[in-house]
Amino acid sequence: MPIRILAEEVASQIAAGEVVERPASVVKELMENSLDAGARRIEIRIANAGKALIEVTDDGCGIPAGELTLAVARHATSKLSAAEDLFRIATLGFRGEALASIASVSRLTLISREQNAEMGRKIVVEGGKLIANDAAGLPVGTLVRVENLFFNVPARLKFLKSDLTEKNQITQLVSRYALAYPQIRFRLMQDEREVLLSHGKNNRREVLAQIYGNDLARQMLEVELEDEDIRVRGFISPVGISRSNRREIVFFVNGRWVQDAGLSTALIQAYHTLLMVGRYPIASIFVEMSPEMVDVNVHPAKAEVRFRDADRVFRAVQRAVKRALLAYSPAPQLSSST
Ligand code: ADP
Ligand code: MG
Repeated sequence: MPIRILAEEVASQIAAGEVVERPASVVKELMENSLDAGARRIEIRIANAGKALIEVTDDGCGIPAGELTLAVARHATSKLSAAEDLFRIATLGFRGEALASIASVSRLTLISREQNAEMGRKIVVEGGKLIANDAAGLPVGTLVRVENLFFNVPARLKFLKSDLTEKNQITQLVSRYALAYPQIRFRLMQDEREVLLSHGKNNRREVLAQIYGNDLARQMLEVELEDEDIRVRGFISPVGISRSNRREIVFFVNGRWVQDAGLSTALIQAYHTLLMVGRYPIASIFVEMSPEMVDVNVHPAKAEVRFRDADRVFRAVQRAVKRALLAYSPAPQLSSST
């Protein structure tokens, strides 16, 4: 075959494949947009494991009426203007690809009203094509509705796991963000049932209780350490509570959920001999450092980051975890008490 430049439609579906793998990836991108917009409340409605409907409503800053169609264009972002900004990113988004990607593989409705605007505006894009653009009434903020995800990419639909698995992925994801952002109220509805509600009262232990139940939440150990410009906070399970896989080890770096094997290993090693072989802790660790110390532009779904000084970060995590374990482990019983 001769070399050809791909049709725009094909190119955008290929790009979409990197960003939106499954319903949970859509939820992640939409929640991140709401967080970037300064929302205090984020409400997520899911139907049929996200295949029929994913709707995210926020009370953030909204999008100017004249920019709605731009918001769904590829490489269109309000968060980055020059290449050097890439090295001091303070927002979760910056690639300007999420809405365009999602819109190319679903029917996407975007309704938004900016502060001070009298009216809102609504656009509908289906398979990447604009099919409606009208005035709309709504409170200040943004609503994104994604219907019939992957309707035009049947192969992708076939790769999805069972509805139960996809639903759990979404619940886990929203739970993680609720814990990472305790000052924000998250509400998750799946098939008209409320599965998560965090109150936004900036109380992480309360959110923990919402997710894991009161009993486990009470037992989780608090992690808190400052090492110059690196700050490590969060919760870890005490000795005696463990899981058979690493799935409940969660790291956020500068408010961004990252999957980093090095960080997980640092955490597990801090438990040293306190864990049995094949057992893993439950942990939610939030690491903060100045944006220049992390390169976030290494992964299309932004799930991985690169540290300028990874060893220092790992050591800080390790020390923080060790300290929490030491401080809270029950004192050895030397004499029998009455
Ligand atoms: P990115 O987040 O990387 O900028 P997106 O495709 O996710 O790219 O969004 C494109 C643009 O649309 C954002 O830069 C932002 O200006 C606007 N936008 C998207 N979602 C929201 C929202 N919930 N509230 C306000 N603005 C939004
Ligand atoms: Mg985004």
